[in-house]
Amino acid sequence: MSANPIDHADAFDTYLPIDIDDAELERILEKAELPALLAALAKLTGDTSLVPPSLKPPHTRKSFIPMPQGGLDEAQQKEARRLAFDAIRRYRDGEIQTPGHTDDAELRAIVSFLITRDFDDYRDLLIHEVADHDVGAPQWTLSELDPDRPFKVLIIGAGITGVVAAYRLKQAGVEHVVLEKNPEIGGTWWENTYPGCRLDTSNYAYSFSFAQKTDWPQKFSRQSEIQDYVLKVAHDYGVRDRIVFNTLVRSVIYDEEAGEWEVTAVTDGEVRVHRANVVISGTGQLNSPKLPNIEGMDSFAGASMHSARWNHDVSLKGKRVAIIGTGASAYQIAPAIADEVGKLEVFQRSAPWLLPTADYLDDISPELMWLFRHIPGYARWYRFWQFWLATEGRMPTVTADEGWSEEGSIGAINHAFRQELEAEFRRQLADRPDLIDKVIPTYPAGAKRLLRDNGQWSATLRKPHVDLVTEGIERIVPEGVVTADGVLHEVDVIAYATGFRADEFLADMEVRGRDGVEVHEYWDGDPRAYATMTVPGFPNFFICGGPNSAVAANGSAIFIVECSIEYILECIRTLVVKRLKDMEPTDAATDAFVGKIDRANRARAWGAEGVTSWYRNKTGRVSAVWPFELLEFWNMTRGPAEGDYRFTPLGELTTQAAE
Ligand code: NAP
Repeated sequence: MSANPIDHADAFDTYLPIDIDDAELERILEKAELPALLAALAKLTGDTSLVPPSLKPPHTRKSFIPMPQGGLDEAQQKEARRLAFDAIRRYRDGEIQTPGHTDDAELRAIVSFLITRDFDDYRDLLIHEVADHDVGAPQWTLSELDPDRPFKVLIIGAGITGVVAAYRLKQAGVEHVVLEKNPEIGGTWWENTYPGCRLDTSNYAYSFSFAQKTDWPQKFSRQSEIQDYVLKVAHDYGVRDRIVFNTLVRSVIYDEEAGEWEVTAVTDGEVRVHRANVVISGTGQLNSPKLPNIEGMDSFAGASMHSARWNHDVSLKGKRVAIIGTGASAYQIAPAIADEVGKLEVFQRSAPWLLPTADYLDDISPELMWLFRHIPGYARWYRFWQFWLATEGRMPTVTADEGWSEEGSIGAINHAFRQELEAEFRRQLADRPDLIDKVIPTYPAGAKRLLRDNGQWSATLRKPHVDLVTEGIERIVPEGVVTADGVLHEVDVIAYATGFRADEFLADMEVRGRDGVEVHEYWDGDPRAYATMTVPGFPNFFICGGPNSAVAANGSAIFIVECSIEYILECIRTLVVKRLKDMEPTDAATDAFVGKIDRANRARAWGAEGVTSWYRNKTGRVSAVWPFELLEFWNMTRGPAEGDYRFTPLGELTTQAAE
């Protein structure tokens, strides 16, 4: 293994010595998340009796909604606390030696305790996620591979992708530049500042594997918290100086002869041309706000704004406000502004499914925080636990059964899941039958993004000055919104929480590959990519967050980004080691990949007939989301399958197949 050019010992956790007495420890353990704690302690002590089968979390056997403590009952929790107490006490008192090394048998016992899938499948992914060193770092540097090869990478966008890509390229010693249209790093977290904006995936999973943080103030942190984190990582890991801000990329054109991309961008009004061997697009799927096409929108006399372009100069105090849309953004905005406004009308076209999450808005308790700061590895195992609960463990709930015909669901588990979610609506709104029918979606659970809910949605809707309007919008007039029943809803402010042009990958950018073919013309409204990242005819061009890469059953987009960048680094290594000018996927491999994706998406809730969402493009094909478990994304991104690519050797102009 080569040495990394960057030394950053501060990347990894440091733990404080334990200096509390038994009584205090017992008190703290009342607030522990037990399954991950037992896993961490078993790893720390090498004692797998801390993860006995009798305490294995039952997961979905009791409920399809994630349950506190993984569904352990009271007696099991008591026993788990007893085991944890004993282990931490012995660790505190120096009675056990920490082995510092875990063999596969121990790891197998620990992982098999937490998850319901085969350890061997998850082993490498798990190590990437919980190891105490940066497992995702490239194991090579350009100067080792080929010191004479001039090689430059250009990254579009300094959001999550830009930060990861710049860091990994820096580790590999590959020259790079990041062009960012905004004046600051952060991408979606810089742009989305609407009231109530926060994560709906656990922070412990939604964070960089190489810069994990043990002290998130909340499990689902606020926008400012995440933005600060991204800024800090960019600063601490030294990627900021490679970013050119206020730079909007206009065109990306391949120079076949030179094997270089010519990127034209406008920086502070001045047009500049950049050249690079490889281009990575990190502009994301949810980058271009989508305003609806409603008659009369321009005639509105009050203030209006899109959720991703929130105008904080517009005071909402005492105002009559309309929110159009009830997706993830509207769901966060409405409760956040309800108490400030004079009247709130939420215009709903389709109701969202809500995933009961009691601690959605809660602070991490001081006790749990104490455990994260004092028990080595606990936050990392908690990360893996959250990863499991939020994605892999949830896939069965969105999977179709062949021949299932019941309306509103796609299979037996999905049906049972629906019933549980529906029961929660009915429980919360038992005294408001008028709202119940409006809020229960007609489409299968999981077909659109599930929104985490601690009851705030129904609490908002039941406020006397809040109305949920389900009548369709007919037009907008200077005074407000007119619905199909002819009612004029007079408002002072309209907030469009109407989503993004998610089906238009690489929006507003001209991308020309071989023979001058433009990528949007090539796609013709149906974006497709091999391995979600590469497109035939567009050599050395990688789309991070490309077609079919979004996680739908919730989960961490950062996981997808990190895997993708690791794959792209492997492609760069291939280009250098094999002395190639460029590489692009074959048509056959791309067709086969997309065919596999399409078949799988059809068997998911969001692929069900009649379901519409930003997951589908203009042709009706689901081109936004990844239909498999994250494990499959992990496996796919370990490196390019060479038979699936066409390579052009350096110094030759014609392409030739790899085989
Ligand atoms: P969205 O999910 O696409 O929701 C748009 C909403 O606007 C939907 O309710 C849609 O109704 C409605 N709408 C669109 N055009 C309309 C029209 N002409 N008339 C009436 N209603 C209209 O957009 P989003 O809420 O911004 O969320 C997009 C994605 O961003 C999410 O799925 C999520 O991945 C991400 N996000 C994440 C977070 C988070 O992590 N906390 C927060 C916000 C967003 P229909 O459903 O009927 O189309």
